[in-house]
Amino acid sequence: MNSRRNFLQKLGASAVALQLAAVSTWADDKNTVHQPYAGPVLRVAIMGLGSYGTRVGAAMQYCTKAKLVGLVSGSPQKIENWRGSYDIPAKNCYNYDNFDEIKNNPDIDAVYVITPNGLHHDHVIRAAKAGKHVICEKPMALNPKQGQEMVDFCQRAGVKLLVGYRMHFEPKTLEVIRMRKAGEFGKILFFQGLCGFKIGDPKQWRLNKQLSGGGSLMDIGIYAINGSRYMTGEEPLWVTAQETKTDPVKFKEGVDETIQFQFGFPSGATASCLSTYNQNNLDKFFLNGEKGWAEMQPSTNYGPIKGRTHKGELNQPVTTHQTVQMDEFSDIIFNGKQPPVAVDGNEAVKDLKIIEAIYSAVKTGKKLELSS
Ligand code: NAD
Repeated sequence: MNSRRNFLQKLGASAVALQLAAVSTWADDKNTVHQPYAGPVLRVAIMGLGSYGTRVGAAMQYCTKAKLVGLVSGSPQKIENWRGSYDIPAKNCYNYDNFDEIKNNPDIDAVYVITPNGLHHDHVIRAAKAGKHVICEKPMALNPKQGQEMVDFCQRAGVKLLVGYRMHFEPKTLEVIRMRKAGEFGKILFFQGLCGFKIGDPKQWRLNKQLSGGGSLMDIGIYAINGSRYMTGEEPLWVTAQETKTDPVKFKEGVDETIQFQFGFPSGATASCLSTYNQNNLDKFFLNGEKGWAEMQPSTNYGPIKGRTHKGELNQPVTTHQTVQMDEFSDIIFNGKQPPVAVDGNEAVKDLKIIEAIYSAVKTGKKLELSS
């Protein structure tokens, strides 16, 4: 706790400090009882100091099992700001050109890749080549072929590859999964996932196919895809999908604005999902079974996540997702802890295969069978 107090005292009114304040106002440590911890601490370098990297960096100040110790950025100014806020030694800071030298740095265990999607493949492989464990943001790659290459490369390099599936540690989400596993909803019949927001600046990388790999489906629809899998506990057998586009100038060829997609699961359950860059207020999961139901809204944003089931309100603690995720990743890497829902590269490849199938179903208009 002392180091955290020292850290807080050092904070100025930088953007990083404001981000930290935003993270700490609603979750902080208030709901977390910190046990004394004497185990290994995962020493992490964040690559990509953009919007989400900033959030992760701030949240990591509350970790007990992981610590932000290094930076990779193309901007010397950002490195200077971050170093000032987080006490990071100059020898742990890299740019995209000299980053491979991180292999000679024994003070960094893992690299967290938080760059645009189209760069993940190269960045993950370079980090693994340097002998570092790798954490990569979602979507892990542009397609399943790239994703599989990353999994295989990390395995050969003897490093772990984990993906920033922060919802896999979120308490209300885990309670619904627990209830489903315990049979409290009965036979699962249906899942609905609605994910979207209205995207702004048409020049951003999210609307550039080379850097994003697609549109809303890659970025936000992936939450409904992944959610349909962890909420039902099944892998889809078939996919159908339809695309609508109201603005073909902003959403160019290969960049989807809105896609609706449906899955069929081995049990006979089905899913119906919507992914869009053209509507706000869409962040909802609904799971229906023969004996009960669960509804979460918001279901995947930074929280607080809210939800209820046929038994009443879900009242599990509010957490800072990125803080919990990084502490859990430390346990997975150092202690071989099994997460409640997989967070490794193979899990990401499953999502990427489904994304590829959805795009294919949009193009052909056909129902596509998925191999397991
Ligand atoms: P961002 O644009 O805010 O940040 C991207 C960073 O990458 C910037 O610092 C930018 O300078 C750097 N960068 C390096 N090379 C670049 C290049 N060639 N072009 C553009 N930028 C380059 O984006 P973001 O919102 O932080 O998203 C980064 C990654 O994190 C994406 O994969 C995104 O899907 C993921 N993300 C995950 C969550 C989550 O909740 N898990 C939330 C937001 C974003």
